[in-house]
Amino acid sequence: MNHGDDTIAAIATGAGAAGVGAVRVSGRLVPEIAKAFLGREPSPRHAHFAAFRDGDRELIDRGILIHFPGPASYTGEHVLELQGHGSAVLLDALLRRCIQLGARLARPGEFTERAFLNGKLDLAQAEAVADVVAATSEASARAALRSMEGVFSARVDDLLAEMIALRVHIEAAIDFPEEEIDFLADPVIGEQLASLRTNLNALLVETRRGVRLNDGITVAIVGRPNAGKSSLMNALAGQERAIVTNIAGTTRDVLRESISIDGVTLELADTAGLRDSVDVVEREGIRRARAQLERCDVAILVTEAEHASADLAFFKGTPAQSARIVVINKIDIAHVPAHRDAHEGHDTLWLSALTGDGLDALRAMLKDLATAGASDGAFSARRRHVVALESVDEHLSRTADALHGSHAGELAAEELRHAQQALGEITGAYSSDDLLGAIFSSFCIGK
Ligand code: GDP
Repeated sequence: MNHGDDTIAAIATGAGAAGVGAVRVSGRLVPEIAKAFLGREPSPRHAHFAAFRDGDRELIDRGILIHFPGPASYTGEHVLELQGHGSAVLLDALLRRCIQLGARLARPGEFTERAFLNGKLDLAQAEAVADVVAATSEASARAALRSMEGVFSARVDDLLAEMIALRVHIEAAIDFPEEEIDFLADPVIGEQLASLRTNLNALLVETRRGVRLNDGITVAIVGRPNAGKSSLMNALAGQERAIVTNIAGTTRDVLRESISIDGVTLELADTAGLRDSVDVVEREGIRRARAQLERCDVAILVTEAEHASADLAFFKGTPAQSARIVVINKIDIAHVPAHRDAHEGHDTLWLSALTGDGLDALRAMLKDLATAGASDGAFSARRRHVVALESVDEHLSRTADALHGSHAGELAAEELRHAQQALGEITGAYSSDDLLGAIFSSFCIGK
């Protein structure tokens, strides 16, 4: 990626009519461009009221001009902000004038990319900038803001420091081959590694929560054929998406639907009925349903009053990583007991997917699960961060094997080196151009 000498410009505000719109410019030519608009050198970080004119001295707009001299700017370079009226045509004309004065159009995310390359932000913070902009709920916006402020990065850095201390210990041991075994058997090394793994696992839990806050939660809807899974999904999604029929076993594949409850995204998957089947296609569907159950954040078991106890067996035998909700459906035609038993600690809701009775309680419960923990300092994260931490976990587990099993210092050191590299990928201490390209190209232009 070229991060050179050139000066970049873009409209930084959203499309459409608005009171105010802004063009942002970053790079070497900013002082000249600023002078061309203002007619003199602007004072640093001072809001100047200026007439923005084109090459023929024709007025484009009047507005505010601010020069942020580098390196104390967003990108670390000279930055110019031109705030005019939020009209798409005027902003286009203003941008064209900046291009005439020597700037080029910025690529998506290029301002933030420059901020990263100039050490203003680390990679996790840079990603959080895009997540703040894209957030659809207050909970996810706040979480992304915490990551942008460096809350997540600080946790990663703490872990990195711990890891480096351990590496130093182990590498020192390898340097003295005669005493290596004694060195490696030192309980301090074992304790350091154990503490590192504990802290890593705590961070992994919080990072997964961060991904849920950022991306929303995945919800699997499972249950016996005809229990009303498709109907429930349709009712939640508010449209006829899943195929609803009264022939048992029609939902063979996994249907997906993304819905939003007060800005919180839920990725719904309606899975095949979980029952033993001789039909090959349906068996495949059931296999996928079980896989779905293991991967989702929340599993909803849809059942009917008379089958509830028997159907709860579906939840047994699958690992309970996800939150589980039992929905007792069809209360419009079933006898609803005055005393509604909860089922073995699962949240139990009685509702009718057909009439919508009781659906609001389910929506509220799903929203609570999606935003759980958002108020107590949770930070946002991305899937790639979880993948990196899982890789760190794997390398640490191999480090432990190497240390405790064979007292193989070289091997342990090598695994720790890989662990450190995987951890460093989160904040960009180690990063490839491909990774940076993938991250920044998904930004919007002007950010
Ligand atoms: P699935 O096989 O679990 O996906 O079940 P469907 O959603 O296809 O529903 C099976 C049948 O039950 C259909 O005829 C639905 O109209 C009916 N059904 C679903 N939910 C309700 C409900 O709350 N009340 C009533 N009376 N019927 C329902």
